[in-house]
Amino acid sequence: MEKTALVAGEHLLVASHNEGKLEEMRALLAPLGVQVVSARDMGLGEPEETEDSFLGNARIKAHAAASATGLPALADDSGLEVEALDGAPGVRTADWAETSFGRDFGLAMKRTHEALLACGAAQPWRARFCCTLVLAWPDGREAAFEGQIEGRLVWPIRGAEGHGYDPMFLADGEELTFAEMSAEQKNAISHRSRALAQLVTSGLFGGGDARTGG
Ligand code: IMP
Repeated sequence: MEKTALVAGEHLLVASHNEGKLEEMRALLAPLGVQVVSARDMGLGEPEETEDSFLGNARIKAHAAASATGLPALADDSGLEVEALDGAPGVRTADWAETSFGRDFGLAMKRTHEALLACGAAQPWRARFCCTLVLAWPDGREAAFEGQIEGRLVWPIRGAEGHGYDPMFLADGEELTFAEMSAEQKNAISHRSRALAQLVTSGLFGGGDARTGG
């Protein structure tokens, strides 16, 4: 019978060049015992994200990495949806950080704040982080999982931990922004850890057969 689950000791390619995401994925995957290798370790480029959904872009990244390396590949596509901005920046979250000299997330948060002021949005500025994970095999099959966390945006930004928009995001029921939390605190509640929890309970790690056709 075809082998379908990842077991401890096997290699799993995490198809991301984002160091912040990678660090979180390594911590979240550590208890599962798989050997995490990154897209950068394997010398992979970054495929263009041409879809208009988290799922579509996660699929592009996961399948490109799996077929280039022959390894099962896990890709994350994620972003921030702000209610008063009709869900923007959404799938374009990383693009709001683009400058001619690379990505600047201080600038991205400033742009988000300015967009909220420009449309006269009343506080609280409701927002959610979304994460879609796609696990793809070199034979083309895949499984997808989603996680979200609801909260609001704060200004001025607070905290120096984490990555991306973390200093601007206050999850519901919390007093610390994601950037004021330790990695363990954030990983206990984040959109990424919620998506990964779905993957873990799917039976794709260590036994079972939950793969979908693709
Ligand atoms: P992409 O998935 O490569 O398109 O990039 C998603 C972008 O969303 C990242 O570059 C981050 O700026 C942002 N993002 C996703 N997850 C997080 C998070 O956990 N904290 C802060 N920013 C995040």
